[in-house]
Amino acid sequence: MAQAGMHAMVGMLARKLTNKSQWILFGAILGSFIPDMDNFGVAIATLAKLPTLGIHRTLTHSIFFVLAVVAIFLAIGQAKKDGRWTNLGIGLGLGILFHSFLDIFLWFNGVALFWPFPVWVNIWANITPPVWFMKFMDPAEFLFFGVFLWVLGSWARQYNTDEDFTGKHRIWMMIEFALFVIFTPLAYIMTKGFATIFGALYLFSIMTAFFVTIRMRKTIEAAGV
Ligand SMILES: [Zn+2]
Repeated sequence: MAQAGMHAMVGMLARKLTNKSQWILFGAILGSFIPDMDNFGVAIATLAKLPTLGIHRTLTHSIFFVLAVVAIFLAIGQAKKDGRWTNLGIGLGLGILFHSFLDIFLWFNGVALFWPFPVWVNIWANITPPVWFMKFMDPAEFLFFGVFLWVLGSWARQYNTDEDFTGKHRIWMMIEFALFVIFTPLAYIMTKGFATIFGALYLFSIMTAFFVTIRMRKTIEAAGV
């Protein structure tokens, strides 16, 4: 996983590809968050003292998962006779695909791109980044959530959308920047228990970003056309 907020901002680039189609950009941003929700599986396995290997960067990062999501939304679009659902599926597929590719090129680990086939695409096998840098990658999650929310807010100001949500949006954004400030020193000084408390707040943050994205879909629609 590169930082989830970074994935979301790459999803935002789909703005250039939407060709004014409704819900594609919305889907691409939402889709960018979905693969790393497999961290909920890791958290549950950890709490249950079960092995966590093979949970992260497998099913939800696979080409077949992308195809399944797109197929499901194509079917919904057909059933509802509403092309927006088909667009949403294409957007989600794009977001998930961008996510997996970004993980391959911008993270220091492999991705099981063809899960359930056990092929790990790993261009980093011979590279070990410095410890201080890898420690910084955890608090950087909060930084990128904050920056993502800031970009979303700047879109809302640009298009005068979701004005009734401005106050709450600012609070969610400030929480993420505050978590970044608090957790940066903790990443270096906490020897025990960091992973647990960080993990819980990371999962809270990814769901926050996901639901703020849904709440601000009018802004995203305005930015996508
Ligand atoms: Zn990932």
